[in-house]
Amino acid sequence: MKITQSLFVTLKEEPADAEVRSHALMVRAGFIQQIAAGVYVYGPLMWRVLRKIERIIREEHDKAGCQELLMPALQPRELWEESGRWERYVADKILYHFTDGRGREVCLGPTHEEVITKFVKGKLNSYKQLPQTLYQIQTKFRDEMRPRFGLMRGREFIMKDAYSFDADAEGMASSYAAMREVYRNIFSRCGVRFTPVEADPGAIGGAGSEEFMVDADTGEDAIAVCRTTGYAANVEKAVSRISAPPEPEAEVAMHKEPTPGAKSCEDLEALFPDLPIERMLKTILYRATWLDRAQVVAVLCRGDREINTIKLQNHLDCLAVELADEKTVKAATGAAVGFAGPIGLGEDVLLLADQSVEGVKGFLCGGNETDMHYLDVHFGRDLEQPSTQEFGVVQAGDTTVDGEGTIEITRGIEVGHIFQLGSKYSEAMDCRFADLEGKLQPFQMGCYGIGVSRTAAAAIEQGHDEAGMIWPLPIAPFHVMLIQMRAGDEAQDALAQELYDSLQEAGVEVLWDDRKGRPGGKFKDADLVGLPMRVVVGRDAAERKVEWKLRTDEEAEVISADEVLPRMIEALSQAGI
Ligand code: ATP
Ligand code: MG
Repeated sequence: MKITQSLFVTLKEEPADAEVRSHALMVRAGFIQQIAAGVYVYGPLMWRVLRKIERIIREEHDKAGCQELLMPALQPRELWEESGRWERYVADKILYHFTDGRGREVCLGPTHEEVITKFVKGKLNSYKQLPQTLYQIQTKFRDEMRPRFGLMRGREFIMKDAYSFDADAEGMASSYAAMREVYRNIFSRCGVRFTPVEADPGAIGGAGSEEFMVDADTGEDAIAVCRTTGYAANVEKAVSRISAPPEPEAEVAMHKEPTPGAKSCEDLEALFPDLPIERMLKTILYRATWLDRAQVVAVLCRGDREINTIKLQNHLDCLAVELADEKTVKAATGAAVGFAGPIGLGEDVLLLADQSVEGVKGFLCGGNETDMHYLDVHFGRDLEQPSTQEFGVVQAGDTTVDGEGTIEITRGIEVGHIFQLGSKYSEAMDCRFADLEGKLQPFQMGCYGIGVSRTAAAAIEQGHDEAGMIWPLPIAPFHVMLIQMRAGDEAQDALAQELYDSLQEAGVEVLWDDRKGRPGGKFKDADLVGLPMRVVVGRDAAERKVEWKLRTDEEAEVISADEVLPRMIEALSQAGI
């Protein structure tokens, strides 16, 4: 492709609203343009990247025996009623839904479990037809509360989703294991560094689930990893062991003390400098909602730990958990915010505790009275220990559950997510097959997603420098940037044309900067767009000499024009292209 004949427009200025590098660089390089919050045009260069990622995805799925299909984005409410998910997705405000011209409620698919289950119902009738895995690559719609980071969190984005159907749990586990391999192959072939981690299945439901994280400091997800044991889990899901704090020197009777204005652990640390924060218990009030009711829930946790609301929501099996507002806190505790405690809470408040409180003796907690705290409190003596669960957020330095290693926290970008769904959807939607004895059984399903557009953004997040993007060869929009220093110079025109033709003929994708402008601007654009290889045809064209440089090299090298093609073929074959 010649730049003079293509829509190639780069900007000097960074977009003001870009919070991450991938977003800023893609906008500057003209790869994407925002049309509304979280809604983008994928320009020609971006589209080439997306098509390459899609191609790798298709090849790996097809190789594993999966079949491609395409399902509709527009879906009727009734279908979502059958699975029982309509309410939850509406409550989560993630679903785009509206009434059509005939008064029917419809939504734009955020995911396709319902449609695929409906599709196979009556088509897969016997165990003899199993297992099967179907996939599609399609635009998904999610009314993300905070669309941001460019393609990383869009409201309209491209996803590959796959669904497996098996006769039993064993079959499902082996389909899942096969897909895990497919995912490893896909992300390896895309040329990104990634970590598979244990994950929380979230609203989709089901049992086992793993996420594929592209390693990047700017990632939205925190990951708990242990280099000794190999443990890796999303912090939403991660579990750890923590040790109980030292016991108080003497056992003292519980007593109330005034703590004027001390609402946080920091305030209390200033007031009681001798009391370790591990012996200050926080009581956090939430409002949990189910379809038909709501309840105030108080969760007790050690002062140095945080509550993971996803674990709490999973435990309560409710639609949503949010921090209680001031009015609710006042009604439940009779006190201003900051003084809640486990003793003397309103009767309708459900009191739970994080495992971090276990073994804590002689602690401080809120007094359920403004400006008051209890001190030297003991479970068993002053109050019963509430039922404890693991609700905490894992922290760096925690011990792994097996006691063998220490946890570190790193960051990543979730580009893929695989789930074992079990019979959640097949049962709800009465989708069954006849087993060996002719008995009707619900399918054991798995579902598998890849954020295609997010993968492109993640690759840039992982590969960039001050000057621009650095694409991995397998998904770069073109393989090589051919820069001609002076368009119109006879020798340069001839050599550039010759290289362009011979490379194209050999299947190397060339973007030829044949513009008239100044070389400086061309080099800047080349760095911004970040094609993995660069060839410069300049002054030495008459001697058939060119400059060769990888995007990651510091210095260019002068080589014979005849060496260009063999070098490129070598680079492509090394990258598995
Ligand atoms: P997240 O936790 O990031 O919101 P999710 O768990 O809701 O994602 P899944 O339902 O598992 O996402 O979707 C499969 C894949 O689709 C994700 O792994 C991610 O790569 C991609 N994806 C999800 N939401 C978005 C979005 N808003 N924009 C771009 N890609 C997305
Ligand atoms: Mg996910």
